[in-house]
Order: sequence, then structure tokens, then C-alpha cells
Amino acid sequence: MSQVGEPLDELPLPPYVTAEDVDFAVRAIAVHAPEQWPTGPLCRNDHAPHPCRLHRWGQRVLAQRGLTATEITALVAHYRATAVRR
Ligand SMILES: [Zn+2]
Repeated sequence: MSQVGEPLDELPLPPYVTAEDVDFAVRAIAVHAPEQWPTGPLCRNDHAPHPCRLHRWGQRVLAQRGLTATEITALVAHYRATAVRR
């Protein structure tokens, strides 16, 4: 099911991006945010080099949904502002 030219370690995109997928994607981008280290940015959540797999997946889902970078930034900021801290 992998698409041509896509690295094997990329998470598959849903065939059709639903509103629920958009929610998941926004959450993934917000949670898998970069943290600055002397060696370069690392994912705050899994400490993989940023952008990590889930962050890239979220970006790709939202791009497939037709959202611009500005809209994605706004959605993530809104999620961060409304998310309950645990
Ligand atoms: Zn991550």
C-alpha cells in the first residue's frame, strides 16, 4: 500500500482525510513539537530528530486536506490554547 517515492518508514495516509483525521493530525503536530538541543531540534515527545514520523504524518494529512501552512499553524495554536494540560 506504500505510495511511489515514499520512504518505507513513513506512516500511511488515510485514503480520504476526514474531520477526525484532521483532529488527530493537529494533535500529533502539537504534541510532537520541536525542542531545541545543542545538537539540533528533537521531538519533545519521542526525542527523535525533529520533525519526527508523527509530526510529518500530521503535516501530510493536513496538506492533503488542502490546508496551508498558515492555517495549520493557526489550528495547532488553537489546539495548544484549548488543550487540557495533563
Ligand atoms: Zn514525535
